[in-house]
Amino acid sequence: MRFLFKDISEVYTPLQRIGEAAMAVEEGIIRWIGAADDLPETYRNWPGISLGNRGILPGLIDCHTHLVWGGNRLDEYTRRARGESYEEILEAGGGIYNTVMATRAASEDQLFSLALERAHHFLQEGVTTLEVKSGYGLEPEAELKMLRVVKRLDQHFRQRFFPTLLAHVVPREWDRVDYLRMFCNELIPTVARENLATAVDVFCDRGAFSIAETRKIFEAALDSGLAIKAHAEQLTHSGATRLVAEMKGLSADHLEQTTADDWRALALHGTVGTILPGATVILRKAFPDLGAMRDAGVALAVATDHNPGSSHLYSLMLCLQLASALGGLSVEEALASGTATAGRALGRPELGNLKVASPADFVVVDGPDALSPFYHWGKNCIKQVYVGGDLAWRVG
Ligand SMILES: [Zn+2]
Repeated sequence: MRFLFKDISEVYTPLQRIGEAAMAVEEGIIRWIGAADDLPETYRNWPGISLGNRGILPGLIDCHTHLVWGGNRLDEYTRRARGESYEEILEAGGGIYNTVMATRAASEDQLFSLALERAHHFLQEGVTTLEVKSGYGLEPEAELKMLRVVKRLDQHFRQRFFPTLLAHVVPREWDRVDYLRMFCNELIPTVARENLATAVDVFCDRGAFSIAETRKIFEAALDSGLAIKAHAEQLTHSGATRLVAEMKGLSADHLEQTTADDWRALALHGTVGTILPGATVILRKAFPDLGAMRDAGVALAVATDHNPGSSHLYSLMLCLQLASALGGLSVEEALASGTATAGRALGRPELGNLKVASPADFVVVDGPDALSPFYHWGKNCIKQVYVGGDLAWRVG
């Protein structure tokens, strides 16, 4: 299957802007992209698809989500709006435990249809790839159930899905040492053997896992051939950012409480720093200084952290807009943080780029200006979404 996409007013690759472009795609992979005037003879007779003088962008990548969950925490949201803190609600037995009970009670089919509906919403806003974490089962069988749901999404829905095993908290019914032993010695090897995740994430913070426990989990993950990443420096400064960087992890995520030393470690080891504006804003925390992180050499990704407790939003574009408006990124930097750098955070640098040998995952905007979705807050400016060269969604 060969196609020549033509009548492209402009494309951001994302690091380069090309005006009046064309793109040749074969078997879902980009074979050529550039200015239409420079199109080599080889591709001129390929079947053409006109994009109607519209702009295109790489498909967006949401590199940090908790898309699979049961239940509903509207009540907690309204309580927090009245002034109760996330930590207070958690200590009183609410918060994540609500979601854990509902997720355990739901069947795999129920979780699949809930997650599918959410994934479809992300697709309509141009998200072609999602990372999805477990972590609401806690018990091994419930964690495996969540990861099987992500595998089904990857096999049956149009987007690309990357499952991650998340060490979220120690369930109340478990002894701490026993749980850690089970997680490292049984759950991680099972997940690796059954190919149910590509990475292991640890929530390293007060009320979750300590830095010593996080190191043990990371060592077990690396021993099983899985990549590592962390929920780091969200509520307190735990040192997880430096740990994940020093252990050559894919990304350290959240970073609200990070220091300049942490940023240097990320830059030094090439670990991506992932910013989650939804959680920062919804929990009313101070927004990280993304300009300072960028200037320190940190490669910044931005993701939704979609979850039922602290970031129940469905729009990666809104997060990119917030990263620009509140964090200090330029619009072009925000685009890269939701495409190419997010691909790096998944260990897949070919994703999020419109370049030769990358998959043809891209979005067509509803006019000639490719960056217009960043300007029109609250309006979906996406006209069509392509994954691997196939039309995955279009308006109407
Ligand atoms: Zn998260």
